[in-house]
Amino acid sequence: MLVNGPPDDPTGEVTDLLQHLIRNACVNDGTVASGHEDRSVDVLGSYLSPASSGLDLEVYEPEPGRSSLVARIEGTDPTAPTLLLMGHTDVVPANPDGWERDPFGGELVDGVVWGRGAVDMLNLTASMAVATRHLAERGWRPAGTLVYLAVADEEALGEHGAGWLVDHERDHVAADYVITESGGIPLATPAGVRLPVIVGEKGSYWVRLTVSGTPGHASQPLRTDNALVKAAEVVTRIASYRPRAVIHDTWRQFVEGMAYPDEIGRLMLDGEQLYELCQSLPLGLARQAHACTHTTFAPTVVHGGTKTNVIPDRVELEVDIRTLPGQTGPEVRALLLDAIGEDLAPSVQISAASDDPSSSSATGTPLWEAIGRVTERMVPGSETIPFLTVGATDARFFRRLGATAYGFGLFSSQMDFESYGTMFHGDNERIDQESLRLSTELWKTLAVDFLGAGSGA
Ligand SMILES: [Zn+2]
Repeated sequence: MLVNGPPDDPTGEVTDLLQHLIRNACVNDGTVASGHEDRSVDVLGSYLSPASSGLDLEVYEPEPGRSSLVARIEGTDPTAPTLLLMGHTDVVPANPDGWERDPFGGELVDGVVWGRGAVDMLNLTASMAVATRHLAERGWRPAGTLVYLAVADEEALGEHGAGWLVDHERDHVAADYVITESGGIPLATPAGVRLPVIVGEKGSYWVRLTVSGTPGHASQPLRTDNALVKAAEVVTRIASYRPRAVIHDTWRQFVEGMAYPDEIGRLMLDGEQLYELCQSLPLGLARQAHACTHTTFAPTVVHGGTKTNVIPDRVELEVDIRTLPGQTGPEVRALLLDAIGEDLAPSVQISAASDDPSSSSATGTPLWEAIGRVTERMVPGSETIPFLTVGATDARFFRRLGATAYGFGLFSSQMDFESYGTMFHGDNERIDQESLRLSTELWKTLAVDFLGAGSGA
């Protein structure tokens, strides 16, 4: 292992571990045969298992290669809360053509680690592991139990990862409090630094639309009933559909916490004006502000047609719909039908491929308070604010079990909101070492603060 700085400085260790995880290239393409997270479970297992750590490790493998690893530091007080630090080990595919460096090289260049997963979320998976090992090695015995979970298959809805674990091994992963991705990007405001804590996430409602027409000879296209032409119109309508903005509590608390200039702050909380405002905001913020307050519809897949000289009678579309807190399947379908329009609706059959509702946790909980206390010391003058993530994370499985789950981490001022947003599943994903050090320190300090110092702290 590399060692940077004084022995207490975890920077070298967390960097090295992250590089290994990136190079393992646990690419999840949505098929059960992909991922191969067992490679990173092996790396994490050997990192966490030296005799000096005394950690109990367990590995679960619901499908060949799709392993998840659990390590725990048992608390001394069975009535004290359990805290789960959860990071996923899989990543989404990367096309090297758009990258300045090898997406799976894990190169360290001028204090920055490059590679797929550097911010989503191998950085946190690595820093959580380093913190867990350091706490275990110093013989820390907390009052409450600390659980570390490196989980497979987050990038394909968690069926072979967190979803499987809560269904089949609940006793081994259940916790009162959970922290996973993402949050913690420092946001500069006139009132000081704000650190967003993800308290909830949008739901996903994925649909397949079958657009039907009438087959015929393509040499005589006049007045034919062409499913592809209708599908093109359906796609255009869905893409340009504008459901109304919903100004929910999390959005309101976020905007108020950000201390935006009065005029901007007012528009951001005005459901009638927000969409127009998004046209002029910086792109990253605009997309977040829009997605956070609207049901979104993104047509993503099309299959259709059989032969160049045949008028197609069937085209299939897939649409990624992301839903707001409290929104139900029937409400989403009503919006979708509104987008498609009465004239085209009879030609479109809608089938839901997945319905995974939005989930959220309250602020003001003991963990919320602990995160605030710890980060105020680590980032002087900072305050935490709640935020709703527009993607799905494994937190939802635990919220449904009744746990309080947040998305958090800590990043240096080298990481700004704009670049962070574009690096998620994008090109040139990378993380600076100071962010890695900060997150490692955060987990250690937070675990001790929240679970009780016990002995050896
Ligand atoms: Zn992720």
